[in-house]
Amino acid sequence: LRTISQLYKTSVLKAPSPDKQKFKPNSSYLNRITLFQGDITKLEVDSIVNAANKRLLGGGGVDGAIHAAAGRKLYHECTKLNGCETGFSKITGAYRLPSKKIIHTVGPVYSSTSADQKAKELASCYQTSLDLALENSLRHIAFPSVSTGIYGYPIEDATHIALNVVRKHFESEDDSTFKLDRVVFVVWSNKDKSVYESLIPEYFPPS
Ligand code: ADP
Repeated sequence: LRTISQLYKTSVLKAPSPDKQKFKPNSSYLNRITLFQGDITKLEVDSIVNAANKRLLGGGGVDGAIHAAAGRKLYHECTKLNGCETGFSKITGAYRLPSKKIIHTVGPVYSSTSADQKAKELASCYQTSLDLALENSLRHIAFPSVSTGIYGYPIEDATHIALNVVRKHFESEDDSTFKLDRVVFVVWSNKDKSVYESLIPEYFPPS
């Protein structure tokens, strides 16, 4: 198991040239994100996000891994949720997982002919997941790379969307809102890890 304090920190990141930085340096944001390579079901964090399908009853990829590790009670709770539309998210207990809650988000199935619509839906997955974490006073949220497996979303485009939504969320916080301590981006493959490592500094440039 990986506790929140043991998670790999993104301290090795190098600042990109200023023209590639999409946001101003702000270490207080960079210090709240983590890139972790490995199995999301092993994370001892307040919430993990599941890349689910509309039925919310389990499937392949990370969805299958989460349902297998959480156990049958997760499936049972999911049968009561009545599914979920693309771009939206629903929350459940985490049962046998070390996390407290699971946020199930339904990513779009990618298609290049309606890329703008898909981008909006994917951004909405990240946004509605963050909203649920905040509403439930969850201090951490760990995201897999939603839609980039079986659903075919190009990893670079999807990573830009994930990082942009999280950065904008941090910028929108004010003193009255509950604040997330940490957002964890979970990658499985080396390729995905290197995409995140190269794009994180554009959205979270080190000071
Ligand atoms: P989608 O159907 O939304 O594309 P997938 O589960 O097929 O979802 O893939 C989403 C991402 O999750 C992919 O990058 C895949 O490699 C990754 N993944 C698969 N299993 C795990 C796991 N146990 N922990 C973290 N990420 C995983």
